[in-house]
Amino acid sequence: MKSTADVVIIGGGVNGTAVAYNLAARGCGKVVVLEKNTLASGSTGRCGAGVRMQWGMEMNCRLAKGSIERFETLGEELGFDGDLEFKQGGYLMPAYTERQWRQFKQNVALQNRLDIPSRLVTREETLAIVPHLSPEGLLGAAFCPKDGHLNPFKTVQAYAEAAARLGVTIRKFAAVTAIIPMTGLNKRVVLSNGDEVETPIVVNTAGPYSQVVGRMAGVELPVHSERHQILVTEPVGSLQGPMVMSFAHGLYCQQTPHGSFIMGVGDPHEPRGFDIGHSWSFLEDVAAKVTEIMPILREVRVVRQWSGLYNMTPDAQPILGEVSEVPGFFQAIGFSGHGFMLAPMTGILLAELILGLKTSLDVSMLTLDRFVRGELIREPSVV
Ligand SMILES: Cc1cc2nc3c(=O)[nH]c(=O)nc-3n(C[C@H](O)[C@H](O)[C@H](O)COP(=O)(O)OP(=O)(O)OC[C@H]3O[C@@H](n4cnc5c(N)ncnc54)[C@H](O)[C@@H]3O)c2cc1C
Repeated sequence: MKSTADVVIIGGGVNGTAVAYNLAARGCGKVVVLEKNTLASGSTGRCGAGVRMQWGMEMNCRLAKGSIERFETLGEELGFDGDLEFKQGGYLMPAYTERQWRQFKQNVALQNRLDIPSRLVTREETLAIVPHLSPEGLLGAAFCPKDGHLNPFKTVQAYAEAAARLGVTIRKFAAVTAIIPMTGLNKRVVLSNGDEVETPIVVNTAGPYSQVVGRMAGVELPVHSERHQILVTEPVGSLQGPMVMSFAHGLYCQQTPHGSFIMGVGDPHEPRGFDIGHSWSFLEDVAAKVTEIMPILREVRVVRQWSGLYNMTPDAQPILGEVSEVPGFFQAIGFSGHGFMLAPMTGILLAELILGLKTSLDVSMLTLDRFVRGELIREPSVV
């Protein structure tokens, strides 16, 4: 079957569906989302779904603040008949070294200047906020009560349903296998079943497969994918309000409303690739680190583990915008471990860029060209 579209979006995760909704809401013509599997079957459905405004770089603070403010009313905006389960229990970031404490001081000063309600808390206050945190080596923490968590599956469902109501076509089990240039700006997007969609604009929101999609369009994107794992415990009574994120341990740990703890830890030795199997070493590593800072969790049983992929750039910050050598080929990729929390702003900004509108935020520093110019972004607060 051959068809045409004004915009084709490759990937039906949180970013693809957010871009689709925002394009349609701004009156874009025919928008088609092509998803090779089911919606949210990629990184979005495998993520921790934590959202935080506590960043160390102005761009990330602005993107995250704008996104969290939108998450607060997203269900209503999208007319969602359900609950996105947005809980703002805060993020607590304990400091264990003077260097970290100084960094948190700088971060909080920046965040407060941008109206982010974070603050430094003393050791005593830290232990009052998370009483089961070990006092061992603890200096204090940074805390923002507006950070939180929401349900990633429902978020995608809400964006997708709202986009569909506005006329967006969403095709599941529609794997893109080729992007063939035509005369002028048009491209032929070819699917595995032989279908083709002709369009002037292709948006790459393929998450961990973004580099594969890039190659289809003749662009070697500086991104790779790597596995990150999550451990889940049995549900227990309420022990922890906010998400605890320790940069010293490369660890994040939260208790869901249901009572389970979910946690993850970064592994600098994780090879590049698309493996989403589980490893025993992760289980040992995360269990050792989390029980060091939350000893009470020694008593809690592990029930399962899952894995997903981070799509990484050389500076662990996203690539947003059009590829200058291939007009009409837009990227929203390379989000590392923070692409869920930025999706509301990503959706808006990509729609504005595609439609040639003035953007709500100047995101020119996030284009692909920064790697050619050697202008890597320095964000001190990534796990
Ligand atoms: C373990 C883990 C924990 C995380 N925790 C957090 C967190 O707490 N907070 C946060 O903000 N972020 C977190 N992240 C990161 C976050 O999950 C991602 O940045 C975000 O979900 C990316 O969304 P996306 O829509 O860009 O990509 P995805 O959700 O991966 O969607 C891409 C889609 O493209 C489809 N696709 C790929 N190739 C093709 C093709 N050829 N044709 C058609 N479709 C295709 C895939 O099937 C997939 O559904 C975490 C990630 C992992 C793995």
